[in-house]
Amino acid sequence: MLQDSFDILISGGELIDGTGSPAFRADVGVRGDRIVAVGDLAGASATQVLDARGLAVAPGFIDIHTHSDFTLMVDGRADSQICQGVTTEVIGQCGFSAAPMGDPPDPGQMLGPVDAGVPISWRSFGQYLDALQGARPAVNVAAFVGHGALWRAAGSGGVTAMERLAEQAFDEGAIGLSTGLEYWPGNEAPEEEIVAMARVAARRGGLYATHVRNRDVDIEKGFAEALRAARRSGARLQISHIQPKFGAPPRAMAQALEAIHRARTDGVDAAFDVIPHDWAHTVVVSVLPAWAREGGTPATLQRLSDPVQRERMKHNPKPIWRLVTEGRWERIALLQSAAHPELVGMDIASIARQRGRDPHDTVFDLLLEEGEGLAQMMWTSRNFEDSDICLCLRDPVCSVMSDTLAVSPAGPLKDVIGSLSGYGWTARLLGHYTREMGVLTLAEAVHRITGRPAERLRLVDRGIVRRSAFADLVVFDPAAVRDQSSIATPATHPAGFRHVVVNGQVVLREGVRNAERPGRVLGR
Ligand SMILES: [Zn+2]
Repeated sequence: MLQDSFDILISGGELIDGTGSPAFRADVGVRGDRIVAVGDLAGASATQVLDARGLAVAPGFIDIHTHSDFTLMVDGRADSQICQGVTTEVIGQCGFSAAPMGDPPDPGQMLGPVDAGVPISWRSFGQYLDALQGARPAVNVAAFVGHGALWRAAGSGGVTAMERLAEQAFDEGAIGLSTGLEYWPGNEAPEEEIVAMARVAARRGGLYATHVRNRDVDIEKGFAEALRAARRSGARLQISHIQPKFGAPPRAMAQALEAIHRARTDGVDAAFDVIPHDWAHTVVVSVLPAWAREGGTPATLQRLSDPVQRERMKHNPKPIWRLVTEGRWERIALLQSAAHPELVGMDIASIARQRGRDPHDTVFDLLLEEGEGLAQMMWTSRNFEDSDICLCLRDPVCSVMSDTLAVSPAGPLKDVIGSLSGYGWTARLLGHYTREMGVLTLAEAVHRITGRPAERLRLVDRGIVRRSAFADLVVFDPAAVRDQSSIATPATHPAGFRHVVVNGQVVLREGVRNAERPGRVLGR
């Protein structure tokens, strides 16, 4: 009998193949960048053997929604994701994408605190993807094109120019289109413009992902608008980070799920994803009304130092969080600040007390003190309910995602905290919600971060363990997997992850990250 030989043999594990089927005992053989054998491979030889006895073997996890558009170019190592089994990220979400880029580049397109340091060498979507591949990311990356980027790049060209730019982005490798209707310029976008963009996604078979217009008091309108856009455009819809925020009416989550399933019955291909965390995060500047942002950062800073305008700003009819309107400052904490790293992790009520100031004014003071970097300052709040997250997780069309940035605890991104889910979101799904709360079976939980997102994204040969699929693999201990991050120490890797393989290259072995960066830009 011919002796099999592999580059990598993962031996003795319980295989969870990503389809949602129960685990079964199987070895996995890898040659080059592909899985070439699954089953009893006793007696086979291999260059590297990864011991998986007593552990689960699964497809590498797919994070269907991240904001690593720039961070992967600053530091492609993506340790925060690799060390929790993530092998593919999908960027360009919530209406933000790094391309197309206007000429000259629009600083408003930058998202995080380090984005401004990235040299903008691209204009078109394809040029951006080339630059991204050149940055050698450790994870695979698929990219959506953001409505905001299209709007900025189109300039005075209007919807027609936006459509043309969107078509071009799809031609050059985008696999979906996103809107962020709670953020400028998405919050000013008329429905016809949204539908026109979703139609481009529909024509190209791409997914239309939306951060809806509101997820608290007007949550029903927000979801209705998303479903209407899908119905009118024919696009496949992904409602992003669906969980209601503090202030939503009771039963909002259940009603949203009912509306989605009614639409599905009517032939709308609608699905959604959820952040497996009860703490939300966003930029602090989103506390300001739209008019206060007009004219860019210098104009905003000017207004913040004017007491009369400040009072007007406090009466923002559309605050991103009702926690602000209701003055629940103890549930909001500073997450990222260049001017005040010593205050990170403290809640706003405590900072205000320390300063002897009104909390709302304290927030405005902090923004003012942040100066030019004001747009990148972040905060986090206990805004979501675990009961809502559980309701979502029980729904079979739910994917699970991070909504954050790929970072690393050392190097140029060491001080960047995208969100509290950054280092431990998969561990929180598999540990907290699956093992501890029993909301999902382990096989189903794995499916929500592998086969389910792969199907939504139409990623071929990813999110599944079978012969001829790409060798993106994770080996973890279901009994030990646990998120170890906190507000005080957010940059902490989770427990329980043993081995990770990306495109047939080992990137984590025996829990230790090496220097490999074998990720690819997908969808081209
Ligand atoms: Zn969003």
